[in-house]
Amino acid sequence: MTTTEPPRDGHAAAERLASRSMRILIVEDEPAIADFVERGLRAEGHAVEVAYDGPDGERRALESEIDLLVLDRMLPGKDGLAVLRAIREAKPAMPVIVLTARAEVADRVEGLDAGATDYLVKPFAFEELAARVRAHLRTPVQSRATELAAAGISMDLLSREVSRDGTPVHLSAKEFDLLAHFLRHPNQVLSREQLLSAVWGYDFDPQTNIVEVYVGYLRRKLSLPGRPAPIDTLRSVGYRLTDR
Ligand code: CA
Repeated sequence: MTTTEPPRDGHAAAERLASRSMRILIVEDEPAIADFVERGLRAEGHAVEVAYDGPDGERRALESEIDLLVLDRMLPGKDGLAVLRAIREAKPAMPVIVLTARAEVADRVEGLDAGATDYLVKPFAFEELAARVRAHLRTPVQSRATELAAAGISMDLLSREVSRDGTPVHLSAKEFDLLAHFLRHPNQVLSREQLLSAVWGYDFDPQTNIVEVYVGYLRRKLSLPGRPAPIDTLRSVGYRLTDR
């Protein structure tokens, strides 16, 4: 007699759990920022909805099943911290990342009292928000995933050590962030604009050639004798890290 029982593979179960799309609500009244965050989180595989004022954000946070809330501090209709206090009473465990234009200590203390899980000061790069979202959406795989690897490159996100084919590679902070973004999206074409907002932030001058410059730095550092760097240029489309 054969059985068709599914394999009891803890790792596979964890993979399935991690790949479950998370529901994220963004409450942000500035359309450009809301759009930037929404597109980025969708690209990370999450289900995203957006509210543009305090009362609508509060209603949706309370009525919908939301795994994580990204909440702007200054909102029309009802202040972000007042919204946060109302939500905290009903949903004490929901992670809330507060976006604030102000970096003052007093403001942070007030926000933490109101129950913010984390803070991000505007302007921020998408990778900074993505890292916090990953940290607060704890799943078995995500909490283990401190290493990224593709194309012979391995990156330890905690020690910030990078190597290619076992040879250590020394990167600046921005080079590290850029390479991390490539490693999270192997074999995908990433446009200049995607890389710019992921690593440098949405308010960066779109005319800048900083992406080209940093891709050049990465290529130089990742090249080994007989092994060119695995980052391809797709003319007028973008760049791709090819995992050969
Ligand atoms: Ca605002």
